[in-house]
Amino acid sequence: MNEIKKPRKQMVYFYIILLIILFAFNFLLLPAISQKAIPEVDYGTFMTMTENGEIGSVQIQTNQILFTDKSEQKIYKTGLMNDADLVSRLHDANVRFTSQIQNEISPFLTILLNWILPLALFYLIGTLLSRKLMEKAGGANSLMFGMGKSNAKVYVKSSDGIKFEDVAGEDEAKENLSEIVHYLHDPSKYQEIGASMPKGILLVGPPGTGKTMLAKAVAGEANVPFFSMSGSEFVEMFVGMGASKVRDLFKQAKEKAPCIVFIDEIDAIGKKREGNIAGNDEREQTLNQLLTEMDGFEGNTGVIILAATNRPEALDPALTRPGRFDRRVPVELPDLKGREEILKVHAKKVRLADNVDFPQVARMASGASGAELANIVNEAALKAVREGRAYATQKDLEESIEVVIAGYQKKNAILTDQEKWTVAYHEIGHALVAAKQTATSPVQKITIIPRTSGALGYTMQVEQDNHYLMTKTELENQIATLTGGRAAEELVFHEISTGASNDIEKATKLARGMIARYGMSEDFDMVAMENVRNQYLGGDVSLDCSEETQTKIDSQVIAIVKKQHEKAIAILKENREKLDELAQHLYKKETITGEEFMEILKNA
Ligand code: ADP
Ligand code: ZN
Repeated sequence: MNEIKKPRKQMVYFYIILLIILFAFNFLLLPAISQKAIPEVDYGTFMTMTENGEIGSVQIQTNQILFTDKSEQKIYKTGLMNDADLVSRLHDANVRFTSQIQNEISPFLTILLNWILPLALFYLIGTLLSRKLMEKAGGANSLMFGMGKSNAKVYVKSSDGIKFEDVAGEDEAKENLSEIVHYLHDPSKYQEIGASMPKGILLVGPPGTGKTMLAKAVAGEANVPFFSMSGSEFVEMFVGMGASKVRDLFKQAKEKAPCIVFIDEIDAIGKKREGNIAGNDEREQTLNQLLTEMDGFEGNTGVIILAATNRPEALDPALTRPGRFDRRVPVELPDLKGREEILKVHAKKVRLADNVDFPQVARMASGASGAELANIVNEAALKAVREGRAYATQKDLEESIEVVIAGYQKKNAILTDQEKWTVAYHEIGHALVAAKQTATSPVQKITIIPRTSGALGYTMQVEQDNHYLMTKTELENQIATLTGGRAAEELVFHEISTGASNDIEKATKLARGMIARYGMSEDFDMVAMENVRNQYLGGDVSLDCSEETQTKIDSQVIAIVKKQHEKAIAILKENREKLDELAQHLYKKETITGEEFMEILKNA
């Protein structure tokens, strides 16, 4: 995102000033110096010398008279007198005389040198100085010079030549946005029929899903300028600065229309205005200015505003009403196919082995965003370089998924032997419970190599295809799988450890969701007791019910988890031999694949 900067003019100014100084020296100072050297005589001497015929030639200038002796060797000067007979006397004395203006400066030049040059000089020095000061003081002090003219900042950014084909997956979003591209190409078709484009389009989705890329791609496809600014950049220290930036931005945009204006993180200015006393004046003024600007131009001026946010629910309703950001384009986390395509797009930038299995990598990276997938490919390439290879392999990619998800391997982790056994049984417990419930391979990979994220081992789940709905049984099975780790520890060591905290958290969240959100309990039927807040940022929930209900929910959550925990213990008890065999295998090898796991499980 390189801003297009104005060329540096300071060196040019410097040379101009230097030239002026030289010019002044040549034309003002030198003549003065050279004339100083001519001896001055009084007018009487001049008259006497004329009468005595001691003068060779005379030159009458506007303010003095220069004359030479008979031999024309010596030059003298004298002041000018109101002497009417001078000409006739000189003629009588047979002297060569002229009134030629030789060393004189023309009136035009005089004006130039006396008036325009000093003015220009002062102006140049002034602008230079103020520029220097502005640079030093940054934006805040520009208040002194330009009253928040945002330092004549140019908001046009490069769209980096990004086209729709560079944004993998996200087909719905692209389809939606291609209408804008058509419109920018040929507005007349839309104008004829009387349709006007929406002024604002809101791209909503989790971080790193390509919202900025999509906005750039719209500009790139339509081949129009791309104005971009982040919401947080508008919020300044001084009240009114943000508003003036908004004004500037739209002024520049309107001059360059058709164009795209992209406002990232619009929630930074567009948050709901609340009636609290200590309101944020600056933010509100900025938002108001944005609303005014959006109302101020007609639908067909060709300025299209795209804005991105991952907190759409926090936006002020005034922003989302028709006529402003009335169209909402979801940019979701990529599904399996989307992940594969994103991997392929980024794989073009690095050198990879020919036999890389993209579908497999995409399956392993379930839940990863576009930005994370880009990172995975890059990590793989880095690893290849680190190990002195010319290209990255499938194994590098798989390893870098783990790096991105769980952190780097801890090289010299200090697990005691007992801990290592515990982790091995714990992980196999998860996998075994999962396998017994679904009768398919539940895992991609199990490893007990500690990671920098703090995980002592983990089980990488597989995702064979896209899953949009979860049945009640599936949810229950998932809870059972989550309790499987702890269940194995209990069964084998008759002792429990802290290693299950993450499992406990996830199991509780699922069970609570079943009751309070998905209406899967008989007592509460289809009543929502929970609200999801930041859907795209982790999804915190807030309870929305009376205290008694809360108590009831809690006891039901406990009942669900308990039932599944017991189920898990039962499954493991039934398969105790397999549990031991698999745990020993994992202990020895530290990492096993899903296939190895299934093979041991199926062997009678
Ligand atoms: P957002 O604005 O949604 O937070 P960005 O557009 O800034 O995300 O994406 C960040 C990076 O992630 C991009 O530079 C790109 O490398 C990668 N990326 C994200 N989504 C995609 C996608 N759909 N196709 C290709 N690359 C993607
Ligand atoms: Zn676990």
